[in-house]
Formats: sequence, C-alpha cells, structure tokens
Amino acid sequence: MIPYGKQEILDSDIQAVMETLKSPLITQGPKAQELEEEVAKKVKAKFGVSFNSATSALHCAALALGLRRGDWLWTSTNSFVASANCGIYCEAKVDFVDIDPKTYNLDVDALSTKLKHTKKHKLPKVLVVVHFAGQSCEMEHIFKLAQKYNFKIIEDASHALGGSYRTYPIGCCAFSDITIFSLHPVKIITAAEGGIATTNSPKYAKKMQLLKNHGITKDPDDFECKKQGAWYYEQQIIGFNYRLSELHAALGLSQLTRLEGYVKKRNALAKIYNENLCDLELTLPFVQSYNYSAFHLYVIVLNKKSGIKQKALFEKLRNAGIGVQVHYIPIHLQPFYARFGFKKGDFKNAESYYKHVITLPLFPTLNQQEQQKVISLLKESVCKKA
Ligand SMILES: *Cc1c(COP(=O)(O)O)cnc(C)c1O
Repeated sequence: MIPYGKQEILDSDIQAVMETLKSPLITQGPKAQELEEEVAKKVKAKFGVSFNSATSALHCAALALGLRRGDWLWTSTNSFVASANCGIYCEAKVDFVDIDPKTYNLDVDALSTKLKHTKKHKLPKVLVVVHFAGQSCEMEHIFKLAQKYNFKIIEDASHALGGSYRTYPIGCCAFSDITIFSLHPVKIITAAEGGIATTNSPKYAKKMQLLKNHGITKDPDDFECKKQGAWYYEQQIIGFNYRLSELHAALGLSQLTRLEGYVKKRNALAKIYNENLCDLELTLPFVQSYNYSAFHLYVIVLNKKSGIKQKALFEKLRNAGIGVQVHYIPIHLQPFYARFGFKKGDFKNAESYYKHVITLPLFPTLNQQEQQKVISLLKESVCKKA
C-alpha cells in the first residue's frame, strides 16, 4: 500500500537517536532545548517550547492565553479534532467557522460576519486558525479582526512547518500570539511524536514551559518563596507532564536539517500532480501566488462532471493499493460536537468540500513509479474536461 503520507528515516537519524540513548540524559536534557532554539531560529520567532505532541502544545497554548471555563474558542471546522479539543480541555466552549471554498482554510469573510453577529459575551477569547494542507490562512486580515474584537490567535501550523505567508515564515507569529507545529510521522518532519510552540512573548513561553512540566520551576529568579537549598523547586500552578524526551528531540533535530529539501520535494511532487491531472474534472489545490505551501496534503475535489462518486473512487484507489484518505470530516459533525447542538447545514462549504474530497499520497520519498500509478488510475476513473 502506498500511504498518503510517511516519514523518511535515514541512518543519520538513527545515529542521532542512538547517541542520545547512550548519553546520561534521556528524558530532560539539552536536545529538547536545542530543538526549541533551532525551530525558533528557522521560523524567525523569539522562543520555542517543545511538547510531546502538537495536541499538548495546543492545550498549553490555550491555557497560556488565559482560556478558561465559560470562555469561547473558535476554530475551522475543516481540521483534525485536536484544533477544537484544546478548547474543551480548558472547559471553554467551542464554536466553528466555515471555510473558503478555494483554499479550504478558515474563511475570513465568514469569520468577520460571525463576529459582527455574535453577542459580546459570546465572542471568542481565542481563535485557532489552521493552515490547511500547508498553506497559511489570511493572517493580516485575521489579525485586524483580532484587534477589533479583542481575541488571541493560535496558528495550528501542524501542516505548515517550512511554509511561508507572504514574506513571513510560518511560525514567526507576526500576526498571532502562538504558533503550533506537529512532529507526527505524517507531518513535514518527525520526532515520532512531538510538537513545538513558537512565540515572541516571553510571558507565554515561560507559561507554556511551566504548564508542560507539572507547573514546576527550578529557576531561582522565579521562586515565590525563599530557596531552601540546592534541591529546591516550586510548583506554582497546576501543570502536566507534556515534555518531549531527549530521544524524540534528537530525531526531530536530525530531521530539521532536511526541512527545506522536504518542502521543496513536496512542492515538486504537487507540481507533477497538477500538470498531469489538470485536464480532468477535478479541482486541484489552489495556492495564492504570494504564499509558499509546505504541501503536507495534496487534496483533489471531484467536480460535478467527474463521472464518479467520492466513495467509489476512494475504494477503487484503495483496492489498487493506494492509501488515499479524506481530510477532514467537519469537526462539528463528529458525535462529540453534535452533542453541543451542531448539525448538518451549519457550515455548508466545509460539508460540501468533505463530500467530494480525496487526499492523494504525497511524501518526500514517493517515487516516480508510485506517483504515475496514482495518476494513471485517476485518468482511468475520472472524466476529462470537455
Ligand atoms: C496532526 C495534527 C494535530 C495533532 O498533532 P499531534 O502531534 O499528533 O498531536 C493537530 N492539528 C492538526 C491540524 C493536525 O494535522
């Protein structure tokens, strides 16, 4: 089976993990900090905070921004459930925004209209924007709305490490408070499991470091009470064990050296799909000329005249050994969120997109033969444009 995404592990990655495994520190140590610094440097942010997953990072980012019981968190319904769940973890209420039918990102006009028509006490405290498939949302515009309506912004850039928005590397937080990256194996680079938050705020960085480590600090400058001895540490708030281990960090660091190459390769493979599929009744990914997508996902949307249904095409490709996927089932239609009263018809663009989308295999080691197999099957199955 050709999967829709997968990691590349080189001998140098294995070497890096082995060396760390033989070092005295395998949980907390210098590698996690080095990864934080390297990612922050790469995306031009002041601070990086490592986590054992992007999900943990989202949770602590929301807490650091002050999200509490009764507050509202809004996000795009076209995302992985973690983008919304972080609100629930904080006992906040979650609401969604529909997507732009061209980019499948959170629609700025829909956001603007929703904000205008929402009562003051129900306005969001935090908005999680998701850079779907690796392309940035319209951050300048969203940032203006954040200033007008007084909400904080988390960029869920799980798909988008190595991409850029206009002249800004994604993660530099020029138009947000905190950005989150995932280091899951299907993402751009991997630590097996892992996440990184970037921010320019020393306050948020410090808070997230505290939250991910039980709420404990060992820094004498931060102590509330007198240091009682060299052993002394303080738990100042309630936190979690969300730390990234040294083994994971070593893998992440080793992979990070290949980031640019990976994103380039993903863009090159996307271009080959574009060139070979453009005469079929499909809508291919649209990337704004001023954006550079990290191309985590390559999604095709079946046009009315495609002559084949989503499910039939999905099964045909799966039966041929092609591990296609669907990204995403709108979050508001998940049984958990339906319990809050969300229903079909609430976010029409995302729902209509979901009914016609298929994710094709795209990863740096996808070879020509494999990609041609995907292309031939699509040419066989989908009608040509008239
Ligand atoms: C993968 C993903 C996450 C969660 O990442 P983990 O590192 O697996 O926790 C969150 N949001 C989006 C949009 C993702 O694609």
